[in-house]
Amino acid sequence: MTTTLKRGSRGVAVRALQEIINKAVGAPAVKVDSDFGPATEAAVKAAQQRLELVVDGIAGPQTQTALKREAEPVKPGRAEPGKSAMDDPTIPDSPYETPFGEPPNIGAFKLLDTARPISEIIVHCTATPEGKHFTVDDVRAWHKARGFTDIGYHYLIYPDGRVMLGRPVGQVGSHVAGHNTGTIGVSYFGGVAADGKIAKDTRTPEQRSSLLWLVQQLKTKHSGIRKVTGHNQYAAKACPSFRVEADPLGQLAA
Ligand SMILES: [Zn+2]
Repeated sequence: MTTTLKRGSRGVAVRALQEIINKAVGAPAVKVDSDFGPATEAAVKAAQQRLELVVDGIAGPQTQTALKREAEPVKPGRAEPGKSAMDDPTIPDSPYETPFGEPPNIGAFKLLDTARPISEIIVHCTATPEGKHFTVDDVRAWHKARGFTDIGYHYLIYPDGRVMLGRPVGQVGSHVAGHNTGTIGVSYFGGVAADGKIAKDTRTPEQRSSLLWLVQQLKTKHSGIRKVTGHNQYAAKACPSFRVEADPLGQLAA
């Protein structure tokens, strides 16, 4: 449980916040004195500006998470598979019945609120081969290695249907050039055939179901959402390796 810290807060949590601010900046930006005064408030505002969060000078759970992620060094891990399969925007048809149900880990996460206005959900795939297991931490490491402050997507879905939190939703994502403001990026693990060479809708029934569930929940939570689209509607890419417009997901748009 993260305590919200603001002007007037004192103690070890403030000290930890000041330390993490300095680590994120890579310089002594603020005095580590356990006292949330005007200088700390200014440093929090500067961080919020930099991290594309709502700038209010209050360090709530999303600001603290974003700072921690920014401060974390890139962890060397599994190499990112080649992305050439995404270069051909031709998508094979993949008719299917969409099951519906709650994600298996529904009690293990909480969808966060944000003051950031959201009007659209953009769906992606991780561009990883079918049957190969990767984690949110792998994707985070790949994205941080590209220079992002954190993983580019806000939500990710494992093949078993678990919904995982990525970048805090209050923070602008890094998932579609020119379309990060006002959008939420959701990605499923997969999107490439096992050979690693061609785009394929590899969604398991659990992923299809959790994607639908998540998009419905997000629409309820962020009442401004009017569109559910795929990355391939904005770039000559295969991602997410299916046509959201022709999918039950796209029909959830208002
Ligand atoms: Zn994408």
